[in-house]
Amino acid sequence: MELVSTPALDCSACGDRIEDTGYIPATERDDGYEPLADGTVCEACGFSEIGLMGCAPELEDVIDAGTDDILLYVRTTDDGIDVVSTKR
Ligand SMILES: [Zn+2]
Repeated sequence: MELVSTPALDCSACGDRIEDTGYIPATERDDGYEPLADGTVCEACGFSEIGLMGCAPELEDVIDAGTDDILLYVRTTDDGIDVVSTKR
């Protein structure tokens, strides 16, 4: 599925702009993923600030999760944002 809107790409932990890969919490809808504001974290913070090495942070560590919320692992491209993987 695609993102239904363009999320903020500034890391909520360190403020750096995500230029490669990062994590974005989102709500799953019928037509795609609706990114949640303010939850974006860059890859470095996903590993170091949230504290897990080698795998995605738990969604609850990024944002208070509702039942339909998932965590997207994304890669930015020239065309926009690719969703690499998701974690519920
Ligand atoms: Zn960061």
